[in-house]
Amino acid sequence: MTNIQSRIAAIREEIVNTCRLTNRDPDSVNLLAVSKTMGVDAVQSAIQAGQEHFGENYLQDAIPKVSRFPGAIWHFVGAIQSNKTRDIANRFSWVHGVATEKVARRLSEQREPTLGQLNCLIQVNLSGEDQKSGVNPDEAVRLAGRIAPLDRISLRGLMTLPAPSNDPSEQAATFRALRELKDDIESRYELPEFNQLSMGMTNDYIEAIKEGATWIRIGTAIFGPRNLTPTPDEPTTKG
Ligand SMILES: *Cc1c(COP(=O)(O)O)cnc(C)c1O
Repeated sequence: MTNIQSRIAAIREEIVNTCRLTNRDPDSVNLLAVSKTMGVDAVQSAIQAGQEHFGENYLQDAIPKVSRFPGAIWHFVGAIQSNKTRDIANRFSWVHGVATEKVARRLSEQREPTLGQLNCLIQVNLSGEDQKSGVNPDEAVRLAGRIAPLDRISLRGLMTLPAPSNDPSEQAATFRALRELKDDIESRYELPEFNQLSMGMTNDYIEAIKEGATWIRIGTAIFGPRNLTPTPDEPTTKG
């Protein structure tokens, strides 16, 4: 087993343990392996461990992997530039992070009808940070109403990416707020498939599962650190 495969096994075990503690069905928690910046070998290794869902957030970095592994299910995570919507609409099955009506309309218009609907989640910014993309809760309610009628989008739920914090109770409160907002939106509109919560990453996924996450987006805990900075033990030049 490679490191990647043993890390995936360890996370799956954490999912099962956390679900047992909170009386959840472990099958209701999906592991999204965020392979951004990683190469095809890393993805291959994860696929051999049975991993099906992969997340990317730089289009150019994603395309070779998406083309190489058409049997995997590809998710675009994070902010979307509107000039990238055509590729995103047609190369991905899920988008975690629609934050404007304009992007949603473009994704719907540009999605090839033969591909079926694109699964989308609205990105909500619950930490109130200006630099993060995502809408506030009131805007999320309005945006859901605008996305609901779009033909080639199935609005599946909400996603959040909270400010980093070392206080688990702070993250838990944010995750709970996302769940309550999902329940609120669900009660307002006719959205039969609106039942997904994408929340929790390497440092806080246990809290997220406890609060109802159906997608945890894990990069570092599966693939290791993204930007290896040389340490004194790893000289950058030889000899
Ligand atoms: C990179 C990224 C992740 C994975 O983060 P880790 O902390 O490495 O697990 C999850 N979600 C989004 C939107 C990301 O950009």
